[in-house]
Amino acid sequence: MNASQKKADGVVLTELAQAYGDEAKARELLESWRWPDGPVCPPCHNAGEKSVSKLEARSASPRGVRPGVYCCGACRRQFTVTVGTVLERSPVPRSKWLLSLLCSSRKSLSANQIHRLIGVTYKTAWFLCHRIRFGVTPQHWAEAKLKGTVEVDETLVGPKAKPKSAVVVLVERQGLARVKVIASVTQKNAGAALSECVSQEAVVNTDEHPSCKQPLKQWKARQAVNHSRGEYQRQNQDGSRASTHTAEAFFSLFKRAIIGAGHHISREQLPRHANELAFRWNTRHDADGQRLETLPAGSKADD
Ligand SMILES: [Zn+2]
Repeated sequence: MNASQKKADGVVLTELAQAYGDEAKARELLESWRWPDGPVCPPCHNAGEKSVSKLEARSASPRGVRPGVYCCGACRRQFTVTVGTVLERSPVPRSKWLLSLLCSSRKSLSANQIHRLIGVTYKTAWFLCHRIRFGVTPQHWAEAKLKGTVEVDETLVGPKAKPKSAVVVLVERQGLARVKVIASVTQKNAGAALSECVSQEAVVNTDEHPSCKQPLKQWKARQAVNHSRGEYQRQNQDGSRASTHTAEAFFSLFKRAIIGAGHHISREQLPRHANELAFRWNTRHDADGQRLETLPAGSKADD
């Protein structure tokens, strides 16, 4: 991290800490984000003012109640806003969770940077990073079929000495990205990623890698640029442009983030990192607050 980034992160964090840095504010923000129309019982989806009530201390009670606890009139269970989310049962305060989410920028912050920025132990920061990576893909993105002009490219990531992992990025030229970690770069694996992620109406742009050739027959149109012949973009007759620049931009961000994370990323962890990068890419024009609100409410924390 260079000096200007450090300063920028510091400024943003001061503002964020004022806005969300205490537990009550963090809880209110989470509630407004998860329940825009009022609290909903997570186990039974019961909602409404009459059936879900906030637990209030009886005036005679000397102890009071924990703030933010609701009681469901239908199933009688008590719940809070974090039930069923990545934050459930976490000993880390909600405000720290929010800050670590919010201070994330397009580049990946390492656990060590988060540890210093938000004042939690390295171990806690590491834990937060992993939970966030696990939970960052909203369902509608995870299942989105990419449309329009979709650029497809693959790359290998991993340390020099070890077998590398293969990653396919599929990215709309003006929109969303999806990333799939595949066992190896083969026609079959690349084809499966395409079938899963790309609408048949899309125009697919690839390079001339053999893995991309055969599976593309089923798409509406396919345009390939031939990197080995020095062709990186081509003007089509209809005025459109064939290239894989967007996919390559994604990969350069991806590789920098992996190097920037500063520690070895195992094959098992790679899909989470890929998810996180796709999330950052998909929210790259959002302010930090918006990015938080795009996070999925119902992410399960079962790892
Ligand atoms: Zn209920």
